[in-house]
Amino acid sequence: MQSTRKTVGLIEKYRQHLPVTAATPVVTLGEGNTPLVQAANIPKLLGYPSLQLHFKLEGLNPTGSFKDRGMTLAISKAVEDGAKAVICASTGNTSASAAAFATKAGLKCYVLLPHGYVALGKLAQAIHYGAIVVPILGNFDRALDLVRELAEQTPVTVVNSINPYRLEGQKTAAFEVVEHLDRAPDYLCIPVGNAGNICAYWRGFKLYKELGMASSAPRMHGFEAEGSAAIVQGKPIKNPETIGTAIRIGNPASWKEAERARDESGGQIDSVTDDEILKAYKMLGTAEGIFCEPSSAASLAGLIKHLENGTIPQNTTVVCVLTGNGLKDPDTAQKITTVDLTPVDAEIAALKKVMGL
Ligand SMILES: *Cc1c(COP(=O)(O)O)cnc(C)c1O
Repeated sequence: MQSTRKTVGLIEKYRQHLPVTAATPVVTLGEGNTPLVQAANIPKLLGYPSLQLHFKLEGLNPTGSFKDRGMTLAISKAVEDGAKAVICASTGNTSASAAAFATKAGLKCYVLLPHGYVALGKLAQAIHYGAIVVPILGNFDRALDLVRELAEQTPVTVVNSINPYRLEGQKTAAFEVVEHLDRAPDYLCIPVGNAGNICAYWRGFKLYKELGMASSAPRMHGFEAEGSAAIVQGKPIKNPETIGTAIRIGNPASWKEAERARDESGGQIDSVTDDEILKAYKMLGTAEGIFCEPSSAASLAGLIKHLENGTIPQNTTVVCVLTGNGLKDPDTAQKITTVDLTPVDAEIAALKKVMGL
């Protein structure tokens, strides 16, 4: 008997829009089809009650970030092409995703990480999925340079977003947004690190418009962290810094295509400060019940900035992409909390006093 509830990954679902054939072995962990959740409280809290705000919860992918969308395709194609090993540089989420899909496919996976700048949960994932993890004494940009060089000298397939299949897989998130809303949003707000995801969404929205699946495409508003805002400043940043370690990138690999996405869509690429990121990060938790990682909150931080300066009108439909799961980085959540966690006597009277009941 055929189950009608069989889980299909995004390659099966969107096969006609992806560079696969019947001969492509599909490596899936059930990625994609993530929720688009409408904000209940933030628009009013910000003073924009007419704002139609939705969050694309990419942290609900199998390894907890949108990277799985590109990785299912990159690893499937690597297997089809006869690869035996894959390699990536990573601020954490790419390595977690690559390790999981490579393991499922029976491939070896090497990951180069910037030592000391990878959130604990992401490192734990890469190790747990059996990758060969190499922390380097250098930042992400250096790690990516080394990966490119190793791939020239040895038979390993690069699965960073310079792998063309990554962005092709990631564009499916835009299809889902259109399908959930029954139209394209007016604006898409998204964090920008290596700048691949903003390009992928733009490809997806453009294609759905061309195919008549949507009558319009959104303006793309991308947000870098101020301490690593290469595109905004128009030059690579030598020592990028930000609390958002997933977007701590000084020389974005998809820089030029991201600028084209911005210009073709009539959008903007701007920056947000770490304080703005953390404010948005907290607000998502306390006002919406959403725990994303700090980097992800750059999308909401940027939306707030652009509502305040009038770049985005308040009477409009906006999707903020929340790229990764907050559980990956419990350290930041704990570090910024002001909640007093001193233990209390296990007695009703003491509890009543502390709880104000
Ligand atoms: C990779 C990543 C980003 C940045 O995406 P780019 O495609 O590099 O711009 C943002 N947030 C999270 C959680 C990520 O893992």
